[in-house]
Amino acid sequence: MDIGYERGVSIMEEKCTYDDKNKECNCILHCEKDSWNSLEKDELNKKIELFWKTLRDTLYSSCQNINEICVVEGIIFSKWEEALNFNYPIDINEENGNFTCKILFASERTYYFKNCAFLEKLDLKELDLEKDLTFDNCTFNQEITFYKSCNSSLIFINDCDFYSNNIDLSNRIFKSNLYFKNCKNIKKLDLYNSTIQGSASFRGSNLNEVNFEKTEFNNVAVFNDTIFQNNVDFKYTSFDDRVYFQDVTIQGELNLSSTIFKDEVNFLGIKNNEVGKKLGVKNIANRETARIIKHSFEKLDNIIEANKFYALEMQKREEELSKTKENWLDWIVFKFHKISSNHSQDWLLTLLWMLNITMLFGTFSNISPCQKDIGLFIVVSLMIIVGLYTLLKTHRKKFLFAVFIFIYCLSSINLDDMARLISLTGKESLTFITLIYKSIIAYLIYQFIISIRQNTRRK
Ligand SMILES: [Zn+2]
Repeated sequence: MDIGYERGVSIMEEKCTYDDKNKECNCILHCEKDSWNSLEKDELNKKIELFWKTLRDTLYSSCQNINEICVVEGIIFSKWEEALNFNYPIDINEENGNFTCKILFASERTYYFKNCAFLEKLDLKELDLEKDLTFDNCTFNQEITFYKSCNSSLIFINDCDFYSNNIDLSNRIFKSNLYFKNCKNIKKLDLYNSTIQGSASFRGSNLNEVNFEKTEFNNVAVFNDTIFQNNVDFKYTSFDDRVYFQDVTIQGELNLSSTIFKDEVNFLGIKNNEVGKKLGVKNIANRETARIIKHSFEKLDNIIEANKFYALEMQKREEELSKTKENWLDWIVFKFHKISSNHSQDWLLTLLWMLNITMLFGTFSNISPCQKDIGLFIVVSLMIIVGLYTLLKTHRKKFLFAVFIFIYCLSSINLDDMARLISLTGKESLTFITLIYKSIIAYLIYQFIISIRQNTRRK
């Protein structure tokens, strides 16, 4: 504990016993303030007055050296004094002259708040600190706002709990760094129309709602391990330097369609709320967002990841086409692409289509010694299978594969006959039905090869 209590102790009700070992101190600064709510007004005001007087006195006595970090530890802040409106900077001590705001801030000093609790709104709008301001493992029971223009301070907010309160950082210029680390329960983080000239980090923080509209990040921006619980739209946001979205969790929709990235972006490990799951089509607001992520992976030569976002880009294109209904031919092609190979991502699916279509065609073209009633049985089975297949959410391919083997065993189609069918250069007479079959197979073989290549190497 860096705060000395020599001066403060004299006016305190009890001696402060807060130190590295004892965190349960019951003095006016460190005691729980819950019971204060039930006090009579006069008594409450006396307590509040005593609290602030004690705090000021202890800070004056302990933070004499302007170059030392002023550490404020374990204090549970009471309500503000009514007599002094915290929203306005006032010289509260004319002799000292250092303190420009009613509680404790001197603009040229570095502050470090550790394990503190702020029961009332912390409004630092009019405070222009020149040095670092750190909140470490603090709790904020009400809203917090920061200065309009921040000259040279680092704002570092680490392991803090905001109890579903907002943080208003809109319309501000941060001339240095802004770091949030492992913060939780932030209801809304508002950085509308703000500029962060230093680096910015939101590492490991849990953000409910965010507003990054027109925010300018002039230096490196880090969103690693950040959880965005709702939609996040980087609308007209510009990133002048590198951006890291590594292992970021997007639970709503990500929209980057009007974002400017001037340098590299890293989206490695970007995921949705289901543990270990990749970003799905519902987490991408539009085709442009998928394209930007795809492009960033391509720039880093990460072709496997790029292909995954290519697939999402195609799915978004399909959504666009199904909305307009104008290019219905394109829509059919996209639909085919999706059903046959999940936009060239799933070679096993393509293979299964080939085998199943061949089997079905083989059954009805009587190339196998297959009885008519077995053919009927297969058709009925297939209808049930397709129904079940569409209901299944996971392991669809494995299910289909097992069913295929089962039916194959029942219908006893000769494998060699099937191989002859799939062969595109077979010499048997070509009928119209065979032509359609061969066209489908040719398309599927092409998709099969593309899908395997997509998952293994560069296009
Ligand atoms: Zn104490």
